[in-house]
Amino acid sequence: MVRVNAWNTFDRGQHKSCMDLAEDYKEFLSSCKTERECVDRFVNDAEANGYMELNEVRREGRKLKAGDRVYSVWMNKSMVMFEIGRAPIEEGLNIVGAHIDSPRLDVKQNPLYEDSDIAYLDTHYYGGIKKYQYVTLPLAIHGVIVKKSGETVILRVGEDEDDPVFFISDLLIHLSQEQMKKPAASVIEGEALDVIIGSKPVYLDESVKDSSEDSSKDAVKKALLRILEEYYGIDEEDFVSAELEVVPAGKARDAGFDRSMILGYGQDDRACAYPAFRAQIESHDLDRTSCALLVDKEEIGSVGATGMRSRFFENALAELMDLCGQYSELSLRRALANSCMLSSDVSIAFDPSYASVFEKKNSSYLGKGVAFNKFTGARGKSGSNDANAEYIAHLRQIFEEEKVCVQTSELGKVDAGGGGTIAYILALYGMNVIDCGVPVLSMHSPWEAISKADLYSALCAYRAFFKKASLKSI
Ligand code: MN
Ligand code: MN
Repeated sequence: MVRVNAWNTFDRGQHKSCMDLAEDYKEFLSSCKTERECVDRFVNDAEANGYMELNEVRREGRKLKAGDRVYSVWMNKSMVMFEIGRAPIEEGLNIVGAHIDSPRLDVKQNPLYEDSDIAYLDTHYYGGIKKYQYVTLPLAIHGVIVKKSGETVILRVGEDEDDPVFFISDLLIHLSQEQMKKPAASVIEGEALDVIIGSKPVYLDESVKDSSEDSSKDAVKKALLRILEEYYGIDEEDFVSAELEVVPAGKARDAGFDRSMILGYGQDDRACAYPAFRAQIESHDLDRTSCALLVDKEEIGSVGATGMRSRFFENALAELMDLCGQYSELSLRRALANSCMLSSDVSIAFDPSYASVFEKKNSSYLGKGVAFNKFTGARGKSGSNDANAEYIAHLRQIFEEEKVCVQTSELGKVDAGGGGTIAYILALYGMNVIDCGVPVLSMHSPWEAISKADLYSALCAYRAFFKKASLKSI
């Protein structure tokens, strides 16, 4: 099989489009580090591009027709967007689905403690991480604290130039004789991932000075609680109803002298979510209804009300069909079964430094275009969605016509490990699904890397898919 370097296929115009897309993407990646931040951004941009909120349309008693654009958000963490096509919806949709959650450290519900005049926030990591990668990095805290009154306080500290950052300490090498003998999985234990957030026992506002007898006990923690009270109006109990995510602090950057790559946090899976969103808003005047799915909780098994296994997508589609005057239980099932889907999740790029875990003929490579995984899974494809040959042939035809640079991919050598995506969940409806995304180096690390050429190829692939995919199952 011939794999070409995508950069070699671009003309001047495409090269410029590729580099311009990367600028927009870096800005997005730097600003949107949590699923909530992604949803906020996408909603604003969708509305600016003529998308209406689905339930608002319903409440206003309006009807929808071909060409109309709607979106629906579930619990501020997942989102679905549609542009209604000319064909009846029961003939199927073209769906591009990505996830907007990424591995990180979540702050516990009772997180705050002090030891030896240092104050900490205790965390529980989210998703698959190499725990040792999270020590001695500048960290930021993003999230929400919802007070009993229902008021939501938004917290985002560590990203602006003059913001403070946070960190997790590591043992100095001089005393690490024992630690260095441990296997990497336990060199930093999960419970050791406690974030240092302060060390000063005094609070400068004299008016709230503590005059009680044991004022020196937990004085650093007390001073911090006063800062939280002053800046955010929250108290210690409010952590119980908070979702605070500790992520690497700082912006996404160009990587390489040639600026061909992007280094940034959360590219699994925002490297696919962003082009999926862009392709959705850039695609107009379609035969089949287009749909971008941007979902939460993929990294922990697509569970919960905002994960792909929840029914929010199916419910939103039912509402959409109803507003188009096309709903029946049977039509909904037909629409789902007739749909085509690209599960747009990142794949792993061949890494020459760790060549032994890859099988070179069937790996994806940095810079060789958007990658298709016919299957994922582990130990004999277990847990995988295995895309149909007929569907792959249909896509091959489309991408050849639209001159999209594509490659195939498999997640490492047979029996080297494995993984999965949301693909198998949509496949439960009987629709055609294949994994299709951007290859990543250092996946799940604090700073993941991708090629700008692959990001652009993903956008081109998703656009071509919305325009031309038409395979029906029934
Ligand atoms: Mn992913
Ligand atoms: Mn992942």
